[in-house]
Amino acid sequence: MLHTIDGFNRIGEENAFAVLARAAELAAQGRDIVSLGIGQPDFPTPPHIVEAAIKALRDGHHGYTPATGITPLREAIAADFNKRFGVEVSPGNIAVVPGGKITMFAAILMFGEPGAEILYPDPGFPIYRSMIEFTGAKPVPIPVREENGFAFSAEEALSLITPKTRLIILNSPANPTGGVTPKSEVDKFVAGMDKHPNVAIMSDEIYDQMVYDGEKHVCLLTYPSIRDRLILLNGWSKTYAMTGWRMGYSVWPQSLYENIRKLAVNAWSCVNAPSQYAALAALTGPQHAVHKMVAEFDKRRKVVVSELHKLPGISCATPKGAFYAFPNIKNTGWKAKKLASSLLEESGVAIIGGPDFGILGEGYVRLSYANSTENIMKAIGRMGEFLSSRKAA
Ligand code: PLP
Repeated sequence: MLHTIDGFNRIGEENAFAVLARAAELAAQGRDIVSLGIGQPDFPTPPHIVEAAIKALRDGHHGYTPATGITPLREAIAADFNKRFGVEVSPGNIAVVPGGKITMFAAILMFGEPGAEILYPDPGFPIYRSMIEFTGAKPVPIPVREENGFAFSAEEALSLITPKTRLIILNSPANPTGGVTPKSEVDKFVAGMDKHPNVAIMSDEIYDQMVYDGEKHVCLLTYPSIRDRLILLNGWSKTYAMTGWRMGYSVWPQSLYENIRKLAVNAWSCVNAPSQYAALAALTGPQHAVHKMVAEFDKRRKVVVSELHKLPGISCATPKGAFYAFPNIKNTGWKAKKLASSLLEESGVAIIGGPDFGILGEGYVRLSYANSTENIMKAIGRMGEFLSSRKAA
């Protein structure tokens, strides 16, 4: 009998990957599957970014790089923050990491241990809770409510802070709901945090360029009063259609920077060199591919919402950001996970049940509209046929 640490009895996972695997299995059997499951852009990485990686390899960038990333890339990230949000960030506070997830992994490891509490959004990205559980800390859900447009409530989040709270995780634009936190709410939250100077904040802003209906993304780095305890998570996966490149970055307060640098040295040494040059080209090159993709998501978003409203028992709040819709299915009578799995097995439509994003996800399903309008119409059409012909189980 091998004795691994207890954390592995508690660690969870991301069911979107299991659904992706099952969808691929069914497709391999010859089934016609439409996937609105996994959250990744259906666009290719723009060609100039791919070329930059190829050139980096041809130029001999085959070796280790500094643990926290090549200097020009960290400088480009700092310049990008300055251009987009008017904030000063030192390249010396930036870590380039292998994907967005690594920042949450590192931040949660730094603060989580038995006796500690970590607040996280529910429904929210499942890895937050999973990693909190892994460390032995107590996961404390911050409810994300439909009646609130799936925006986070500062008052509710602040009311959950106790002397044991070490870290608060925020995410806007949000997965799985598409909710966007308005500036007024962020202002309120940051003001309230004055009373809790020993609580760190991790702001997951990986969908920051995907906002619609005139909403503006509010970057937490623009609040000087929390800069000494703010960890900012971002990356290239979504914005530049680079999920498989495994490229992310984070901004750390000075007091935590040595922790992330040492963790990098211990765990991944550095992010693979050609991908770093690709990421540099992404930030410094033309941005029209990003704008085109976001404009396309915006169009599809409207299609998703209007098509979902035609289905019996389904209503859907209009998502303001990211590329997810989180329709309410309570009036169909179906349990969310059962509905999702039956739709995949019987109708060939891959979506994710709300409970895969937290306890408060029951009664909802997540559809990713990172798929063509044609496929979205087909998938929702099949959902309609399914709901009209099958009794709730
Ligand atoms: N944060 C959120 C809210 C996400 O939805 C995702 C991916 O789905 C990530 C982080 C992780 O991104 P990456 O694929 O770069 O690890």
